[in-house]
Amino acid sequence: MKTRHLAILTLLICLGCAQAQDNAQSQAQASPQVRLTALQEADLQTWMNLLAGDAMRGRDSGSPEILLSAGYIAGVWQSMGLTPVPGSGSFFHPFSFSSGGEIYNEYNVVGYLEGSDPDLMEEMILIGAHYDHVGVGNPVDGDSIYNGADDDASGTVALLGIAKLLAAGERPARSVVFCAWGAEEMGLRGSKAFAANPTVDLAKVVVNYNLEMIGHAEELGEGKVFMTGPEYSDLADHVRGYLSHGGFELIPNPFASMDLFYRSDNASFVNLNEGNGRDKKMAGIPAHTFCTWGSESHYHKPNDEPDGINYANMHKLILALTPAIAASANGTEWVQWTDKKFIRYEGK
Ligand SMILES: [Zn+2]
Repeated sequence: MKTRHLAILTLLICLGCAQAQDNAQSQAQASPQVRLTALQEADLQTWMNLLAGDAMRGRDSGSPEILLSAGYIAGVWQSMGLTPVPGSGSFFHPFSFSSGGEIYNEYNVVGYLEGSDPDLMEEMILIGAHYDHVGVGNPVDGDSIYNGADDDASGTVALLGIAKLLAAGERPARSVVFCAWGAEEMGLRGSKAFAANPTVDLAKVVVNYNLEMIGHAEELGEGKVFMTGPEYSDLADHVRGYLSHGGFELIPNPFASMDLFYRSDNASFVNLNEGNGRDKKMAGIPAHTFCTWGSESHYHKPNDEPDGINYANMHKLILALTPAIAASANGTEWVQWTDKKFIRYEGK
């Protein structure tokens, strides 16, 4: 079954390739590191409509449509010049689990943009978002497709957009690994499987940026984004200035009591193993989720549709955040834990 999946996925890459080439944008003006003109709002709409349109039937784990989505993501990346992680042989990172008496064979989709500096290219920035959602369910107002446009096709589209920007500009010194996680909605299954069975050396990951629900602005207002667990590392200090330059304010986490830091895929990298005894600490990678959170009115509901997305705000956020990511990938500094309960993961 897995072999058949992979054959289908390989064919599907072509679909993503062809469509992305149709959308090739002019690359007129270069900013110092990131060519911001390489990404248009129309790119985001194209990818969003493909991933979260009714035809994808809510990208449920175990569905044919989740495979279509995986193939599409890999195809778009390939068209931009990304490759599989060296040695992995494929954009698709397989994992299996059982739930409710069923066996699931799923895939993370992992793309690699090789760093340009021979001394730094072994180090990497991990950028993640989950591409699965919850599929088809109880109808609300006659609509049974839970599209998951904001949750988390928005983060997945950002993965494609950031890849396009970084691949179009000056190649960063460090490598950048783009991870579209599978089966997040079933308990962070994909990112946990990658953390347990990685195709990269996790001791060389400088930081993990995770993107969740960045397609709405009703509740926080436009031009505002928060990160989860800002008090745990110095990442906020690295990104705040870049966001501000791009017209975005990094606001305090408005949902601090909800413990969101541990509820998205970044959490899979926060605690890779633990120390022993009295000084037991969580050894992991500084890993945080960026979110603009829309409202309860569409969260995990059939009305989380592509036409509800605020593309202008999302486009602006991606353009503001990508230079921060490029800076993480170009600097020699590492993002550091600042809360003493964490220590940096240094390998097993
Ligand atoms: Zn989500």
